Amino acid sequence: MTSADLTGDSSTGAKLLNTARDVIPGGVNSATRLVGAPYVLTDASGAYVTDADGRRYLDYHAAFGAILLGHHAPEVDDAVRRAVGDGIDLAGWGVTEPEIELARLVVETIPSAEQMISAMSGSEAVAQAVRLARAITDRPLILKFQGGFHGWQDAVARNVISAPDRAYGRDPLSRGILEDAIESTVIAEFNDLDSVRELYERHPERIAAVILEPIPHNVGALVPEAAFLAGLRAITSEQGSLLIFDEVITGFRHALGGYQQVSGVRPDLTTFGKAMGNGYPIAGLAGPRTLMERFSSAGGDVLLAGTFNGNPVSSSAAIATITYLREHPDFYERTHALGDRIRTGLGAITEELGIPAVAAGFGGVFALYFTEGPIRGYRDLLRDNDEAYVAFHRRMTDRGFLMLPLALKRNHISAAHTEDDIDRTLEAARDVLRGIRD
Ligand code: PLP
Repeated sequence: MTSADLTGDSSTGAKLLNTARDVIPGGVNSATRLVGAPYVLTDASGAYVTDADGRRYLDYHAAFGAILLGHHAPEVDDAVRRAVGDGIDLAGWGVTEPEIELARLVVETIPSAEQMISAMSGSEAVAQAVRLARAITDRPLILKFQGGFHGWQDAVARNVISAPDRAYGRDPLSRGILEDAIESTVIAEFNDLDSVRELYERHPERIAAVILEPIPHNVGALVPEAAFLAGLRAITSEQGSLLIFDEVITGFRHALGGYQQVSGVRPDLTTFGKAMGNGYPIAGLAGPRTLMERFSSAGGDVLLAGTFNGNPVSSSAAIATITYLREHPDFYERTHALGDRIRTGLGAITEELGIPAVAAGFGGVFALYFTEGPIRGYRDLLRDNDEAYVAFHRRMTDRGFLMLPLALKRNHISAAHTEDDIDRTLEAARDVLRGIRD
């Protein structure tokens, strides 16, 4: 990751970022926000964000996918204001009405959910899912896929975007993770059931759960083959493991009932976060009553704790977001159509320019891989021309179309994007791609 040299830059953004670097390590609060330019965002509205120097960007980054209805969707902001006005800002005792209502909505909406617990981030929801799975099965190992990201917690912190020599090997995301935690996560290949069976053979009765993003959006968009998800369901049931869908990105975004609704495959446990609260911090873990009642809140033996769990302000944001989606089913039609429009457009432009590329994605999420198709799993992504990928995102951002300039990052279309936005994006993309080719 690069850090922009701000010496001599007198813009407001540069000044703010210099201060940030003084008091926050690196100047940002999450390492992937360090994109090498003084982006200090000061305003966001609908499909746009504005930086400290007044530059406006059409936002495809969407706060890593936390924005679904557009920035400051009035329905969500109004609900938050009302919740703050209610004077209950912390569920410190008992339970609040928004928590109950949110869980009720999720249970009603998500096919595999009978109960839900609330958390403040996707990482926490995943940590709870992993611990619950270990407790239920009394087994130590978690099987994840190369390229899948499930948060920063130790139990899953390895093998996301790996260099070819580290893929499928030992590739922790960080120092400071105990060897036992790293070794307790085993790595398979997406869309490859044989790689999963092999791990079960190597570790008989040791795998507590298989966790996956049903579409691994942390490496763009690997779309699962129908037989793959159904096969995982069958293998995990046969082997006495749990199947965990990490729907932190796909949940509510691709369908009201998440990707489990799209695929018809029911996981045992599901995690949510990001878009669920349209930018407000909220996450959840849902599953059948028989499993969820293992939490200590129901008299079980798996600790459920967290001062901010079920925070009523965040819960209100999530209630408003889900309610909007329920009342506007055309949201899915529209974002899927816009997604198709940009994928088709990017495919046509790269073909016309003779650039080997695949415009991938699902619904309103898209990614442009710089390699020949087909793209089925991470192994195919090892062929991606990362330099071109990053250059495309960086140059699009320079032209006012915010796309995170890091390899394999995806782009998101929200309820606030329009056909005209997509067409302007394609126009700019044609120029940028021509420049990259030449
Ligand atoms: N799971 C998935 C699929 C994610 O993409 C992320 C974050 O990017 C997480 C979990 C962790 O969520 P959070 O960043 O809210 O802790």
